[in-house]
Amino acid sequence: MGQLAEGGGSRLERTVDTVRSYAPASGELLAELAVASDEEVRRVVARARKAQRAWAVLPVGERMARLARLRDALAEHAEDLVEVISRECGKPRHEALVHEVTTLLDHLGWICKHAPAALAPERLDLHLLKHRASEVRHEPRGVVGVISPWNFPLVIPMGSVVEALAAGNACVVKPSEVTPLVMLEAKKIYDSTGLPEDLFAVVVGHGPTGQALIDAGIDFCVFTGAVETGRRVAAACGQRLVPCTMELGGKAPLLACEDCDLERAANAIVWGGFANSGQVCISVERVYAHEAVYQPLLDRVATLAAGLRQGDPARDFVDVGAIIFPKQIDIVRRHVDDALRKGARVVCGGKAGPGQFFQPTVLADCDATMTVMREEIFGPIVPFMKVRSDDEALVLANDSPLGLNAYVFTRSSSRARHLAERLEAGSVVVNDVLSNYAAVEAPFGGIKQSGFGRVHGVEGLRDMCHRKHVSFERVRGPARDPYWFPYTARSFHWLQRGVRLVFGAGSLARRIGELF
Ligand code: NDP
Repeated sequence: MGQLAEGGGSRLERTVDTVRSYAPASGELLAELAVASDEEVRRVVARARKAQRAWAVLPVGERMARLARLRDALAEHAEDLVEVISRECGKPRHEALVHEVTTLLDHLGWICKHAPAALAPERLDLHLLKHRASEVRHEPRGVVGVISPWNFPLVIPMGSVVEALAAGNACVVKPSEVTPLVMLEAKKIYDSTGLPEDLFAVVVGHGPTGQALIDAGIDFCVFTGAVETGRRVAAACGQRLVPCTMELGGKAPLLACEDCDLERAANAIVWGGFANSGQVCISVERVYAHEAVYQPLLDRVATLAAGLRQGDPARDFVDVGAIIFPKQIDIVRRHVDDALRKGARVVCGGKAGPGQFFQPTVLADCDATMTVMREEIFGPIVPFMKVRSDDEALVLANDSPLGLNAYVFTRSSSRARHLAERLEAGSVVVNDVLSNYAAVEAPFGGIKQSGFGRVHGVEGLRDMCHRKHVSFERVRGPARDPYWFPYTARSFHWLQRGVRLVFGAGSLARRIGELF
């Protein structure tokens, strides 16, 4: 066993050369795994690159047929995946099945059906260079490195793996140090399908292993994690000019308008705030409730939250599971203490323990000075703030450096559209919560400090590709075009006339058909 790792960010008892996986709900040590050395990471990336060359030349339809085998194998092993996710992450089995396994299967199914069209070359009609024909090709980048968090240890990294492979890339994943077993289970299932072994690999380790992956010569990086880590990863990518997607933190506001369906809004707040113990980047992290509905909504949410069953998902069917590691409980407690000091009230929950749990907690009378309304909580806390109008709610909702998801509850579709247009977020969901991540054909990602780039949908597939513009001739050209050498007074004169004819105000070309 190695020494304790140096530097900040230590989450559990941690060694330099091993990773320990614990069950958060029971504290049981599940496994101790060797950390991949930098040299090993380089070898894995080199093998992936070799496998990628053979994979990329397969027609996209053939790649999809092979990936369909992976979908079948994942479906066959759904229960094994649910078991390991629930145990290693401490989340209810329902959530492991629905949020992770089902969304991944659906995403992969959608990709198998739609990737051939999404990745097909696009013809461009050129408006000026009519004698040329252009197409934009979507070509694989090479080896994609995926660095992923612990809160959705299957669907987040594997979603990028299947996008990368569909587009003709190889993929190497560095999972979170606290949830390595889920990715190793996924890799075992992948290997059972006969897909090229080196095309998808997993390197186990800590933050420095993620850095080693970037240094190993990857061609694209998909990072999902905290804003601060994202800055470091983006800087490392920038140093090597490796393009990247950044999926970072969120602080999703929920606007409960005076005309909302109270019962649906209350149930949505409870599910959206406490699913996965609130450890979701698109959790309901702050509620702005109109004064006309504030009290009844708060009361109903408190009643529903108090009825949630919390416990070890490996032993019982519970609604709310554990918190991933002790440091996260300290963060949650600090937010609650800060809010109470500044005048908030606990109307439900409020306490940590026993063990690695934090009670589903509802806070009333919050205001914009409290960290619970400003910073990502990543725990089972739903803070309520009273507002007097939609405009006030909008200003407060947008007063955040983060912009991942936002939620609006109203019975009026015009009001919903008006608010959706003005909310600063990558996704706005009306009268529902969290479901946009399951809409696998829609792009998912953030704005502001929540990141850039998109996963899911056509955009997610195309982000895994270079755009290559290929320009063909439509008619055989002359020996030389009129704007090539030699530059003479005569050719300049004719070019000038041509520019006036095409672009000049009132020119014939503009009058004929607004061509330019
Ligand atoms: P972290 O940022 O701590 O870690 C994410 C990954 O980065 C882990 O694999 C981590 O390894 C690795 N890492 C840490 N340091 C470095 C480094 N210097 N270079 C390369 N890789 C490094 O995030 P968490 O795992 O704690 O996840 C929670 C965060 O993720 C929240 O902020 C949440 O909002 C965000 N998130 C965003 C989502 C989105 O789609 N926008 C979705 C889900 C979560 P290790 O675990 O070994 O430290």
